[in-house]
Amino acid sequence: MNNILVINCGSSSLKYQLINMDNEEVVAKGLVERIGIDGSKLTHKVPGKDDYVIENPMKDHSDAANAMFSALTDNTHGVIKSLDDISAIGHRVLHGGIKLTESTLVDNHVKDVIRECFDLGPLHNPANLMGIEACEKNAPGKKNVVVFDTTFGMGMEEKAYLYAIPYEYYEKYSIRRYGFHGTSHMFVSRETIKFGNLKPDAKVIVCHLGNGASISASVGGKCVDTSMGLTPLEGLVMGTRSGDVDPAVLQYICNKEKIDINEMLNILNKKSGLLGLSGISSDCRDVELAYEKGDAGAKRAMEVMKYRIGKYIGAYMVALGGCDAIAFTAGIGENDISIREAICNNLSFLGVKIDKERNNVRGKMQLISTDDSKIKVFLIPTNEELMIARETLRLAK
Ligand code: AMP
Repeated sequence: MNNILVINCGSSSLKYQLINMDNEEVVAKGLVERIGIDGSKLTHKVPGKDDYVIENPMKDHSDAANAMFSALTDNTHGVIKSLDDISAIGHRVLHGGIKLTESTLVDNHVKDVIRECFDLGPLHNPANLMGIEACEKNAPGKKNVVVFDTTFGMGMEEKAYLYAIPYEYYEKYSIRRYGFHGTSHMFVSRETIKFGNLKPDAKVIVCHLGNGASISASVGGKCVDTSMGLTPLEGLVMGTRSGDVDPAVLQYICNKEKIDINEMLNILNKKSGLLGLSGISSDCRDVELAYEKGDAGAKRAMEVMKYRIGKYIGAYMVALGGCDAIAFTAGIGENDISIREAICNNLSFLGVKIDKERNNVRGKMQLISTDDSKIKVFLIPTNEELMIARETLRLAK
């Protein structure tokens, strides 16, 4: 057996997938919710079988990992006989800072660096580390690998990752563009080259459009630029995040509204984007529905979002010195036919031609541009878990 277990921990959740790397199929997956709070629950899913639910108090991530391993090896609902049937465990980690720039096997140094990066990823890194330690405790001796969301962006050159602020802040605090959704951008840019049969050094722009949204420019799967920055707040208009704003806006609003910078950041992270502009919802489907009914707020939100995506694509074409392919991915990118069409229509002056029939597709790898389009456009569903599993297999061998 060649199974890799992939773990993605949040502060009160643990998501897992067991992937058979011989055929890259998911053997089982599950979610532990409400860790450390009342109503802890594990839902274990095996393709073709009924869900298996365990409702037990789970006080921490170690209890959650223990429940996950019990479900995976359960006599009735399990998919493996023992933990020996797991080759290695791959963990998604948000931030590796500037010290950990590649996926790597876990050791004490790696855990120390993840800890050092707590203030760069305060919501994610502590939970990610708890997941690693929970697996070390419940599956002793098993190789653990970490795959960072920042790895893809660490490939950028200085001219792309530096902010034009006093250089001492980079030297003292490592303030730079890191980029997020890196595992997704890495996976989708590589799959686009493979699926599209493009040359190995193809110039690809990936639009990861979900509740969080980001865009990347890469050559041969190596990042040249990406829209998220020191944190996942910069760049595109997202569900609740503003993306780019003039930093002076923050001071102006703080003074006028008598709020502090923390409250302001909360507004930019949680109350802005589609939600803030529309006043309706952070969910693209809700906003589009209201737009179709003629709601002015919804129209404005969708227009700003689409305009910003187009602007970034244009900038990234210049950054790359051309473009062989554009790929759409994540919730909106994989499902929203009309947004893909609108974005591509804005690029028609560059010879981008969308094929309406090919574009009438959801969640499936497909070429969606016409045969004579100057730049190929693809729908490539993202699969971060598979990317993590591939990296884990490579490093654990
Ligand atoms: P994600 O964060 O990748 O799960 O994506 C979530 C976003 O995808 C939400 O804004 C959803 O409204 C959007 N989405 C999911 N399905 C559809 C759909 N069929 N049409 C339009 N948007 C969708």
